[in-house]
Amino acid sequence: MLQSQLFTKTRRNAPKDEEALNAQLLARGGFVQKLMAGVYSFLPLGLRVLRKIETIVREEMVGIGGEELSLPVLHPKANWSTTGRWETYDTLFRFTSHYSKNDYVLGPTHEEVIAPLAQQFIFSYQDLPRYVFQIQTKFRDEKRAKSGLLRGREFLMKDLYSFHRDDADLDAYYEKVQAAYARVFARVGLGDDTVLTFASGGSFSKYSHEFQTLIPSGEDTMYLCEKCRVAVNKEIIKEQPTCPSCGGAKLEEKTGAEVGNIFKLKTKYSAPFGLQYKDEKGAMHDVLMGCYGIGISRLMGVVVERFHDEKGILWPASIAPFSVHLLELNGASATGLYSALQKRGVDVLYDETERSAGEKLTDADLLGVPLRAVVSPKTKGKIELKRRDSEKAELVSEEELLKLLNH
Ligand code: ATP
Ligand code: MG
Repeated sequence: MLQSQLFTKTRRNAPKDEEALNAQLLARGGFVQKLMAGVYSFLPLGLRVLRKIETIVREEMVGIGGEELSLPVLHPKANWSTTGRWETYDTLFRFTSHYSKNDYVLGPTHEEVIAPLAQQFIFSYQDLPRYVFQIQTKFRDEKRAKSGLLRGREFLMKDLYSFHRDDADLDAYYEKVQAAYARVFARVGLGDDTVLTFASGGSFSKYSHEFQTLIPSGEDTMYLCEKCRVAVNKEIIKEQPTCPSCGGAKLEEKTGAEVGNIFKLKTKYSAPFGLQYKDEKGAMHDVLMGCYGIGISRLMGVVVERFHDEKGILWPASIAPFSVHLLELNGASATGLYSALQKRGVDVLYDETERSAGEKLTDADLLGVPLRAVVSPKTKGKIELKRRDSEKAELVSEEELLKLLNH
């Protein structure tokens, strides 16, 4: 990609109304743009990152048997009345059609749609288990939406729903999802900072689990066991004052952002919709369900909160918008190298703009591509290579660069 052709430009200063650091850096880099509180456009650079996170999540969900589908965002009131959540869901966007006077919901989550849908296809024990997921925009009327991508009123979520005949099957799959989640967070670069957190399971399950990324700007408080790095959230610390994993009594207060949540719903949503299956003897039972969410757009914000410095973002390579940022400075030309990289399939952003070296280097630091390759009169036919997370630069040849990029 030629930088001169980018739809967006960087800005020196963050928009005045952005309080959150993730939103400030992402807006300055031209990754996102706020339309109103909690609602963002994902611009070409930002969409590249979002899609990479999505791909990692999708691969891991398919890896545990998930089948992808896409459910409607617009729901009729009736489904939400069936579960009682038309009245009780605190962040529900509800509205009335101007023409028909019917009431609708903009989906904040999809149990009210998936349970009656599953009833169309699950009849007997032979139809179980089943696992379906989607990656889709959710709407929530959040009271406070000042944390940039961490709390959107419109945001991207992956939601997986599982259907089982008994507790043993639900429990076994729940463990599988937990392991897949750990792989997702490791692959997006947050493995060391994301901890499994015990949370309330509602009235029907002892615990649910959250995955919390430890960041100072996180909105959640939890208590972390120093020994085994498992945490307990604020809601259950009174009934669970010791580590539920190792029994350790030393729990340290931390702040985090919830990047994922896994929950045994059991029959909470199957029962009201009459989602049942017939067993081997012909007896009918409620289907057991699990639900499992990951905040895809929130993850993007959390990565920025975790990986930045005073100059800009430091994207982990797995989700970076490009693999290499190629800069030509002070009259040198990197056109040949750009073609060579492109020919080899390297995802490269090429700054061929006629601007000062200072401006270009500042942009590169702000955009946060993990590798910077500079060609200038000083590099004398070679390439000055620097990782975004290091101060050290080295001179390499074109072949050495291609080798380093595994191409
Ligand atoms: P929170 O306590 O942060 O409001 P939640 O418990 O309401 O989260 P879930 O309903 O479990 O969240 O949604 C699944 C995932 O979606 C969360 O783990 C989180 O990563 C993400 N998420 C939830 N609300 C938002 C939001 N307003 N903006 C962005 N991501 C969100
Ligand atoms: Mg919430």
